[in-house]
Amino acid sequence: MATGSASAVVIGGGVVGCAVAMELARRGAQVTLLERNPALALEASGTSSGILHTGFDSKPGELETELILRSAALRRPLLDALGVPVLECGAKLTPAGDEELAAVDALEANARANGVEVRRGPAGELEVPGEHVTDPVACTYAWASAAAGPGARILLDTPALGVEATEGGVRVQTPDGTVEADVAVDCAGLHGGEFTGDGPVVKPRKGEFLVFEQPDEPVGQISLPVPDERTKGVLVFPTLDGRVGAGPTAVDQEDPTDWSVSDEGEAFIRERLALRHPGLAGAPAVFRYAGLRPAGVDCNYVIGPASTPGLITAAAIRSTGLSASVGIGEYVAGLAAGMGIGLGEPEPVTAGAVPGPPPRSPWWRRTADYMAAAAP
Ligand SMILES: Cc1cc2nc3c(=O)[nH]c(=O)nc-3n(C[C@H](O)[C@H](O)[C@H](O)COP(=O)(O)OP(=O)(O)OC[C@H]3O[C@@H](n4cnc5c(N)ncnc54)[C@H](O)[C@@H]3O)c2cc1C
Repeated sequence: MATGSASAVVIGGGVVGCAVAMELARRGAQVTLLERNPALALEASGTSSGILHTGFDSKPGELETELILRSAALRRPLLDALGVPVLECGAKLTPAGDEELAAVDALEANARANGVEVRRGPAGELEVPGEHVTDPVACTYAWASAAAGPGARILLDTPALGVEATEGGVRVQTPDGTVEADVAVDCAGLHGGEFTGDGPVVKPRKGEFLVFEQPDEPVGQISLPVPDERTKGVLVFPTLDGRVGAGPTAVDQEDPTDWSVSDEGEAFIRERLALRHPGLAGAPAVFRYAGLRPAGVDCNYVIGPASTPGLITAAAIRSTGLSASVGIGEYVAGLAAGMGIGLGEPEPVTAGAVPGPPPRSPWWRRTADYMAAAAP
């Protein structure tokens, strides 16, 4: 066991909260993780593209980039130790025309500035061998299991209702009573700050996806478009269960309970597919799902002490939180240690039991099924 003496409450059982809980527990903290839903990873973390990004296209010097790169350096032994499935397929970005070629040249330079391995192909294509696909729900459960191994308590169906400073730390209210700790970390995604009034404004940015059976010419690699200012664009990627995902869209909305896929969203994805994957553009979809990115208003990756003493915010982790999660966990542990919380060195991971039934349906339909069943 690590020799820390700290106690911590982590609010939110998405990939960020579970990674933070894992990193604090590995350093000896007594961790309580609160999740308001009846299972982990039912929100943004269970509805992503499931890609473990390298950071090849991230802006050098930003916190997001720093944490993606750090995560990429740290996560392999954790994924192996916890048996997280990974498809080491790599990604390819094929430019169409001179304008895109110039954009791909810039991306190559960006990747090199970030120290990420890339290769150019004869038609100017950019190959990124380190971009991999995982099951984002399995990954979140693995981080939770590695928190439970050294003793973290994971409480499902338990929303945090408020956080207040105490003389020695914080007190978190839940419907079942209060939990006291040295530090609390708000990893509540779209709902971050709601129960404290403390943190950036976060709004949903919907991303819709279509899932297909593999076409005659199978998709074995992540196929990337040239990204725009706002998003990485519509990707096509193989899933671990032998299918193909295509998406996401990027639609800002106000309603954090609307997880539906619109016909316009589907049409947009099919238009994009017609340009690069015509074999998929007219194919029937096996399923369609949407995720809501926790997008900060005029901010991104807001990770630091909140104005409530003893509370750390890890909010507005919009579009790369799966990839950066281990780095975010380490970063938050560093912030907690800097607040004088007694943490030891990280111990090797040990797996423990995560409460609730394990996820059964394929990850890409789990949230949609849950939201449909929960709808009034
Ligand atoms: C469409 C889409 C595509 C994406 N693709 C990728 C990708 O390919 N690769 C990648 O790295 N990232 C990707 N992302 C981004 C990634 O999924 C997010 O950055 C990440 O999931 C954010 O994790 P989180 O834990 O902060 O949020 P969430 O997963 O939303 O978790 C927050 C949790 O807090 C809980 N909660 C809320 N309020 C309370 C409360 N009061 N008390 C207790 N619990 C509470 C919620 O129920 C939820 O479980 C994508 C996201 C989307 C939506």
